[in-house]
Amino acid sequence: MFEKILIANRGEIACRVIKSAKSLGIKTVAIYSEADKKSLHVQMADEAVFIGPPPVNQSYILIDNILEAIAKTGSDAVHPGYGFLSENSQFAKRLEEAGITFIGPPVKAIEAMGDKIASKKIAHESGVSTVPGYLGEINSPEHALEIACEIGFPVMIKASAGGGGKGMRIAWDKEGVAEGYQSSRNEASSSFGDDRILIEKFITSPRHIEIQVLGDKHGNFVYLNERECSIQRRNQKVIEEAPSPFLNQNTRKAMGNQAVSLAKAVDYFSAGTVEFIVDSDRNFYFLEMNTRLQVEHPVTELITGVDLVKEMINVADGKKLPLTQEQVGIDGWAFESRVYAEDPRRNFLPSIGRITKYSPPTEFNDGSNAIRNDTGVFEGGEISVHYDPMIAKLCTWSTDRKSAIETMRKALGTFEIEGITSNISFLSAVFDHPKFKSGDITTGFIEEEFAEGFSGVEHSEETIERIASCVTMMHRFSEIRRTRISGRLANHMRKVGNDWIARINQTELNISLDPFKNGCRVKVNNAKELTITSAWTPGKTLAEFEIGGDQMQLRVKPISEGYHIEYRGAELDVLVRTGRQQELGSYMKEKELPDTSKYLLCPMPGLITEIHVSVGDKVEDGQPLCTVEAMKMENVLKASRKGTIKSIAVTPGSSLTVDQVILEFE
Ligand code: ADP
Ligand code: ADP
Ligand code: MG
Repeated sequence: MFEKILIANRGEIACRVIKSAKSLGIKTVAIYSEADKKSLHVQMADEAVFIGPPPVNQSYILIDNILEAIAKTGSDAVHPGYGFLSENSQFAKRLEEAGITFIGPPVKAIEAMGDKIASKKIAHESGVSTVPGYLGEINSPEHALEIACEIGFPVMIKASAGGGGKGMRIAWDKEGVAEGYQSSRNEASSSFGDDRILIEKFITSPRHIEIQVLGDKHGNFVYLNERECSIQRRNQKVIEEAPSPFLNQNTRKAMGNQAVSLAKAVDYFSAGTVEFIVDSDRNFYFLEMNTRLQVEHPVTELITGVDLVKEMINVADGKKLPLTQEQVGIDGWAFESRVYAEDPRRNFLPSIGRITKYSPPTEFNDGSNAIRNDTGVFEGGEISVHYDPMIAKLCTWSTDRKSAIETMRKALGTFEIEGITSNISFLSAVFDHPKFKSGDITTGFIEEEFAEGFSGVEHSEETIERIASCVTMMHRFSEIRRTRISGRLANHMRKVGNDWIARINQTELNISLDPFKNGCRVKVNNAKELTITSAWTPGKTLAEFEIGGDQMQLRVKPISEGYHIEYRGAELDVLVRTGRQQELGSYMKEKELPDTSKYLLCPMPGLITEIHVSVGDKVEDGQPLCTVEAMKMENVLKASRKGTIKSIAVTPGSSLTVDQVILEFE
């Protein structure tokens, strides 16, 4: 067995690999860039080697630097994680030449599958069902148009070297082809340094279902069932689950067998994933094969009990697979939520900065429920522009789908991240969505169900009353503590009253409390009575309540006269006043906010790559104004209403900070 493994990656996946290596008694080496000096993966590894400045092309994907780190530490094998060099056949080749084991598939398989055009051909030849389209490279806008018309609209324009949902555009008609072809090529060349394009039929309302395969160096293969990854935004997975609520045993078996025959066709070993797109009639078509460990591998581990990283290491060491196909089962149901540093309320734009608070739910497994949180960040750490904005992969497991959803809802409700904005509120909204809960999902789910973007969940009147009641109780408690600390009054209880007016969502509720130790009986507008108990104390940012027999968790931040609340996808300010304060408050003028509606502000630090309008242009609601590149993604900023462009403050190539003015409307 290997003595020392170098992990050619960073973040959560580096931490994940280190864990399994440790469990096998193998020493680990981390590599890190200037930006990652204090990272979790560096702390967890036995040794760490500095490999260069923050940009990945000067550090994490510089093969020479990594080879140097291997030599320096005497590592005998390398695990590449996902992304970075994981599917770089050149890297695997260089390792082979240096006599170092690559913990992954053979070079030839990476080469064959690393390219969407080439892999589709092989899949087709080995009897795997592929998406109808053109089996070759598209070499000009004219060629693109010709092929698109032949296939029939809509079509999917894709980067052959693509990955991570990048370099992909749908064209609904002839006009869309030219635009899609160009932007697909641009993104492909800036993200992958390879601008070859393919075109295939766009399958409407499909599901993305993929098969995990595992092979050893002795020709043995198993498929570890499927993962459903239909919840995507911009073709990038957000929530995954295993098994799929859509597959029956027959389809599962057919997909599994095709996946294994493709793996066999390229003499595969190690872990790999064959991705399929599945239409509403359960016809499935090969999309691509990822020759590496997949981001969402934990859900497979949770339902099969197989530690994929451990098996990758064992296979690389020449060991045989520990199980046969008959021994692969499905135990329970698992979900993964990708927690991203992004602002769902601002069109999911990346959020960058220091994490001032990081308090994830506690991991556990009691045999009927489990929480697993794969993370690479820590409190005080920074989310930088250089790397993927994923903060954590929050996974839950239960005996059935419904309970796994319930465990996830609760876990999301107690996950606290501050300093940067995360998508937790959005994830909560999805897990609360009736369609999602029923398993009726397609890759269009987010775009269809959140067509106007995400502006927060609107809760029922009853929920709003419950939130207001809890906050009023908290406010009263804080007031008591305050008067006690200031010591102004020995008998504080007489000073802080029990009748309050809570203002929430523009409505005012009369809330009367009848307190007892650790709780209150509450009356809202003199009507129904509820009992609330809580162990919350002022200063805690997570408040947990038992209210009318149900549990409720609020993330809370004090504001003057109340609290800013986050609850299951909603953000609310709850102001709590006494009758007297309310009366005085009515004489106060509301503060006016400065009018910024005339400006388009840059929502994140980034680089202007293109400006789509000129001074004097009249623009419509939704019209693209400019493109900003940040975190390796092109973000198109669109007009949020009709208007005329008065002036433009930037040019392509301008590097902007957050909230810097891009252009002004008349
Ligand atoms: P990547 O390498 O970026 O993961 P994939 O080819 O796997 O690219 O596609 C990513 C996602 O894009 C899929 O999960 C699916 O949602 C969507 N997609 C890709 N090809 C098609 C297609 N032909 N029809 C419909 N959706 C597609
Ligand atoms: P005591 O004054 O009896 O020692 P505490 O200081 O714990 O009680 O609480 C003071 C008041 O605050 C009590 O009336 C109680 O009903 C209320 N209270 C106690 N715990 C909470 C809580 N977690 N949230 C809101 N109110 C609370
Ligand atoms: Mg894919």
